[in-house]
Amino acid sequence: MGKNNARLELPKEAMKAYGYQIVDAIVEHHVTQDQKFPVAFGSREEMDKLFLEEAPEQGMDPSAVLDFVLEKVMTNTTNMAHPKSFSFVPGPSNFVSVMADALATGYNIFSGGWSIGPAAAELEIVTIQWLLKIFGFPKKKGGGIFTSGGSMANLTAVATARRIKCGDDFSNAVIYLSDQAHSSNIKAIRVLGFKKEQIRIIPTDSELKFSLNKLKNCIAKDRLEGLHPFCLIASAGTTNTGTVDPLSELAKICKKEDIWFHVDGAYGGAAYLSPKGKTMMKGIEKADSLTVDPHKWFYQPYEMGCLLVRNHKDLSHTFTEHPEYLRDIEGNTSEINFYDHGIQLTRRFRALKFYMSLKTFGLKAFRDAITYNIDLAEEVENLLRGSKSWEVVFPATLAVINFRYHPIHKNYSEKQLDEINQYISEKVVASRKALLVTTLLNNQVVLRMCLINPRTTMDDVTETLDLCRTFALEIEEKMAQKV
Ligand SMILES: *Cc1c(COP(=O)(O)O)cnc(C)c1O
Repeated sequence: MGKNNARLELPKEAMKAYGYQIVDAIVEHHVTQDQKFPVAFGSREEMDKLFLEEAPEQGMDPSAVLDFVLEKVMTNTTNMAHPKSFSFVPGPSNFVSVMADALATGYNIFSGGWSIGPAAAELEIVTIQWLLKIFGFPKKKGGGIFTSGGSMANLTAVATARRIKCGDDFSNAVIYLSDQAHSSNIKAIRVLGFKKEQIRIIPTDSELKFSLNKLKNCIAKDRLEGLHPFCLIASAGTTNTGTVDPLSELAKICKKEDIWFHVDGAYGGAAYLSPKGKTMMKGIEKADSLTVDPHKWFYQPYEMGCLLVRNHKDLSHTFTEHPEYLRDIEGNTSEINFYDHGIQLTRRFRALKFYMSLKTFGLKAFRDAITYNIDLAEEVENLLRGSKSWEVVFPATLAVINFRYHPIHKNYSEKQLDEINQYISEKVVASRKALLVTTLLNNQVVLRMCLINPRTTMDDVTETLDLCRTFALEIEEKMAQKV
């Protein structure tokens, strides 16, 4: 590029060419990604070899930089939107939201204060109201905020719970969560400065749900010790198994004990849109705060999380500071400054992608997609149950299924089964044809499929299971030779 470009600009025609090239690349990726390998690898050495250099003093041709990025950067990443990406939580995304993100960034819209971006704030209010209605939260009193993801939403929730229930003194405060709660909750609690002794990790029952009996014992004992139970975090869909805690019962306990009831629905919350999910998550509407994560099962691209609260004033009580230089933009209270509802001041315009994709596809399309995901996992469960090779370790729940290779006519030890299933997963991933990693359930190594991609078909699953079986036979043969 030109030597004197201190305005950081491209000429109009060059901008167009550059932009079209990027749009073409994104569209091409979207229409061909299902045929590509989902899995990519790269060691630090390999990546260093590709990319490590000093910051260049002189610029270069923009399309040369772009070509290099398309060829070397975009190809060296696992594709979480691929229909055979079954692990962790896939990110199916959708094209309309991708373009919406491009718009939000292209106009560089500041989504912090009302007066700077009234339409952006209004769209956040409107889309949060859509979510409040979906989850049965009070529409007028309720509120919320979009965050970078579920981790930030959980952090925002625990900070709010503490402010509302403890004020400034939280030295006696105790917080409760189950041993299946997502690690981001512990991270949030630690970030907020709680000591280990203030955290109660309650064991789960045989169905991996919060044990109500153990919880009640624990709260009672803490009260006897003069401690202050202030917050409970329940899961609406654990990441491992999709398990939903007994939300209605937990809500009752929290109400009676004056404990803030936070529900972490980052994984499963969106499924409340579907009839099955709604039945499973009954009680979610009683939460004081609820984390949902649109970049998971609301099919949004990264990053987008969300915290909903029963009472929007709880957020402003927690996060409002009034520095002098913001006094001219404070405005009136109906005109929400989202910097007063969360941690960030400068915020990107996240609401736009949610707004545009919902307007474009309609809520019904989202409901149908989620229902399809839940049903697909249940079909996979039936298929596995009817097979001589597979054992269902944990039934299909909110589109997650845990299973393992365990042929009925062989007497493998637990250790051998662990070894076989670990081998299967490693080989499948190494083949790059599917992303299928293991998790631990009851100390067993199991394969976990998370089926929240609406483009994943039964064929994708059976092809992957066939691949698994090939590797199972391979290791069985090796094991047979050893003895
Ligand atoms: C993914 C997840 C989180 C964290 O959300 P991020 O968007 O990854 O920050 C929190 N809780 C649960 C249950 C999750 O599945």
